[in-house]
Amino acid sequence: MKKERAIIIKNPRLRRIRNELRNILQLWIDDIWSSLTEQIEKHNWDDDRSTIILRNRSELCLFEELSICLCLHCGHRDKDMIYRPDMRQWLCIECNSEIVYYDKLRNELQMNKSEIEEFFNRLKGGEGIGITRLTRSGIKCGGDSYPLSRAILTKMGISPEIQDQFLRFCRYYGGHCDCEIWLNSARFF
Ligand SMILES: [Zn+2]
Ligand SMILES: [Zn+2]
Repeated sequence: MKKERAIIIKNPRLRRIRNELRNILQLWIDDIWSSLTEQIEKHNWDDDRSTIILRNRSELCLFEELSICLCLHCGHRDKDMIYRPDMRQWLCIECNSEIVYYDKLRNELQMNKSEIEEFFNRLKGGEGIGITRLTRSGIKCGGDSYPLSRAILTKMGISPEIQDQFLRFCRYYGGHCDCEIWLNSARFF
């Protein structure tokens, strides 16, 4: 599928039927999964047969992950879904809006590439979490109000409003404190 496409069902009875069908499909997949696993365990083949079964099993997994039945982002199976051609997968409408919102936030962020790069370099260094001179005491972290990150951003001349925007984006991508910004969010810039 090449185009973005949303499938929304409003009628509560139809929604129930759709969700039941998704549950049945999931049960069917679980069933095949366990019978394949059983075959591998029972026969203990050391030839191509077990490789083929293992391959079938991972194809089955992929089939479910790429289907409209499951939102890989939140794991829910009872939502209206939208197909994202750029991600080549289905997402629920809520997760998609959230992703669109944070993509927009990142695009509108008034910090350029070199400022972002400078920030992460300084955060990792001595005035930040100190990962470059990792010692027995481990890394420093100021907690969820981001004191180390804010101090660096302030020294760089970034306004409080832009700091808020930047940190909101970081939080969404797993940066709940100074050290997690470096560990989780940095790769999303
Ligand atoms: Zn979702
Ligand atoms: Zn931390």
